Amino acid sequence: MSEQVERLKTLIVGSGPAGYTAAIYAARADLKPVVYTGMEPGGQLTTTTEVDNFPGYPEGVDGPTMMIQLQQQAERFGTDVRVGMATAVELSDEVGGIHKVTIDHDKVIEAQTIIISTGASAKYLNIPSEQRLRGGGVSACAVCDGFFYKGQEVAIVGGGDTAAEEASYLANICKKVTMLIRKDHMRASKAMQHRVNSLDNIEIRYNTEVDEVLGDQVVEGLRMVNNQTGEKEEIEITGLFIAIGHTPNTDIFKGQLNMDETGYIITEGKSTKTNKPGVFASGDAQDKIYRQAVTAAGTGCMAALDAERYLATVETKETVIS
Ligand code: NDP
Repeated sequence: MSEQVERLKTLIVGSGPAGYTAAIYAARADLKPVVYTGMEPGGQLTTTTEVDNFPGYPEGVDGPTMMIQLQQQAERFGTDVRVGMATAVELSDEVGGIHKVTIDHDKVIEAQTIIISTGASAKYLNIPSEQRLRGGGVSACAVCDGFFYKGQEVAIVGGGDTAAEEASYLANICKKVTMLIRKDHMRASKAMQHRVNSLDNIEIRYNTEVDEVLGDQVVEGLRMVNNQTGEKEEIEITGLFIAIGHTPNTDIFKGQLNMDETGYIITEGKSTKTNKPGVFASGDAQDKIYRQAVTAAGTGCMAALDAERYLATVETKETVIS
């Protein structure tokens, strides 16, 4: 490991809407934030095409463009955006303590405050035809992309609350939704199951999995397989939604930050405070319910305000890092 150590007031880990919004607020509050982008600069939105539901874009905007604009906005106020991945952390238990973050297994950053905005990654089935058609009709976000399938026939994979919620959402927009559930029952809450069952244009297929997504450049159909009988069946669809869960990108914080059983960071009350003083969590790393760009941005703003307030209290006692 190298000996290079840098001290910061505020380190922001992750560069989705939460990270850049935290950076905009932190930079304007003169916290001199540094953002490390992580492996996917711009976050999950860079994998979507059109974003039509972020306020302020009446004509919509494509995901990568929106993320570049958010970065530019953060840089306008002096944010230092760097490409790099946080690979290890050592978080202090002391109020006013210094947290250590290793970047790319090499450089060590010492920070008074850390804003975690590492996001979450949608799980995919990881079969070749699905991977090939991502962005060509395969999506992991019905709320983001459902609108493009208005009046069309689509399918959704998964039997949890997300799948049930997204199937209902799609049923309002699309002509027909085929829901593939690999077990003989749904994991979703009874209320969500009831909702799905009450919608005439949702067809539920139990014990059913994806055999292959059909289509060359775009999705044209789906070959399904019944995992009890082995029987295969093809249907025509234009969109396939994968709703089999998300994984929060919080592995490096395990054992140091309080998390729920699925790895989402637990924050205190209506704040972004974690169990470590000076460490704040925003965006999808701490939110498994809403998971929208606009809600992530909102919690990024909250994290910067929480960091600013925290620094104001500790800096009266501690050495100020300028
Ligand atoms: P879950 O982990 O609850 O459900 C995932 C679903 O995908 C399960 O039905 C699972 O099947 C299925 N699945 C997983 N892997 C595969 C695969 N390879 N092939 C086919 N199917 C697969 O994830 P959710 O995103 O639905 O929910 C996460 C959490 O967020 C839950 O606690 C949920 O309650 C909560 N949530 C709450 C909401 C609300 O309150 N409004 C809305 C959305 C989520 P199997 O059951 O066989 O394992």
